[in-house]
Amino acid sequence: MKARRPIVIANWKLNGGIDLICTSVASFIGKHFETDIVVCPPYLYMRDMLTFLQYSELRIGSQNVSRYESGAYTGETSAQMLKEAGCSLCIIGHSERRAMFAENNLGCQVKVQTALNHGLLPVLCIGETQEERAANTTKAILLTQLSEGLNTVDLAGKDICIAYEPVWAIGTGLAATPDMVQEVHQFIRTELTRLYNEEIADRVRIVYGGSVNKTNATELLKQKDIDGLLVGGASLDPGHFLAICEQV
Ligand code: PEP
Repeated sequence: MKARRPIVIANWKLNGGIDLICTSVASFIGKHFETDIVVCPPYLYMRDMLTFLQYSELRIGSQNVSRYESGAYTGETSAQMLKEAGCSLCIIGHSERRAMFAENNLGCQVKVQTALNHGLLPVLCIGETQEERAANTTKAILLTQLSEGLNTVDLAGKDICIAYEPVWAIGTGLAATPDMVQEVHQFIRTELTRLYNEEIADRVRIVYGGSVNKTNATELLKQKDIDGLLVGGASLDPGHFLAICEQV
């Protein structure tokens, strides 16, 4: 039995469509989980997915959220809109957004606050590159991303999720080992205790993402501080994703 309710998040990125929505929901019909399972499709498909969700325990989330509430911000989608659309969480600061869309820690912090203000679970992604790991700066990098990404956010009585996603493990087939991940998650929880307090640190769910599949999920999930998984590529195959979720 895990100390915190596990959560498995599927990040479809810029993939999928009506077919994938139908086959994904169909795979989960009639299945019961003691786990939160949240699929993040592209924005355009959220409403389609919602119409089928009454038949399964799947929930929907967003791959991003605007830092702004409303106004002249072309191409943005606000936290309030996501909440109204039926989202339960939003991913913030994914490494692809940091690398390709110039997202930074300060912007992430604003997004975390905005998500909390609107009752969405923020999933703040942090993770080191291969070069940073080789240079032995992993913990320093993670601490900066964590402390600046949360900075002034008041977490008392709030739920938040941290996703540890080493950049070198994303989409490479090279997952971090369970021991490596446990060590990092323990470090993150210790730092959360220092930045906030033990009660908050104990409540935060810390999930791992990076080449998770149905084979490596079992050992990862056995680790004390791994409270769930963030799954990219493998979530595009509904049978494979279901097999991962059934191991939690
Ligand atoms: C991700 O992009 O968040 C991710 C974990 O991808 P993958 O599972 O494909 O490595």
